[in-house]
Amino acid sequence: MFEEMLSYEEFQDRFSTEKECMDYLYQAKWPLGFVCPECAHSHAYVITTRNHPLYECAYCHHQTSLTVDTILEGTRTDLRKWFIAFYLVSTPKSISALKLMDIIDVTCELPRT
Ligand SMILES: [Zn+2]
Repeated sequence: MFEEMLSYEEFQDRFSTEKECMDYLYQAKWPLGFVCPECAHSHAYVITTRNHPLYECAYCHHQTSLTVDTILEGTRTDLRKWFIAFYLVSTPKSISALKLMDIIDVTCELPRT
């Protein structure tokens, strides 16, 4: 996901806000600018009333977002936390899910034994 290997500090610095994470996803999804997934039109209106912006095609009015069709679709967790999670699990010294949850401060249902 991340081309160059940044140190943890550099990484936190680069992705210190939701907007920086959004910008990164935008570049990854539409490197040449918005492309409607339905009709390939290149102009969209941005709807920013939600936590994460929606992009509405100016031609066919199809709505999409940066996280549609990714594992982040529908997430209510901050993108920053996901980015840190991706970073941490992609480092050579991989860490456990429990440690990760502790670091990024999220909870999840663990299977009962
Ligand atoms: Zn369209």
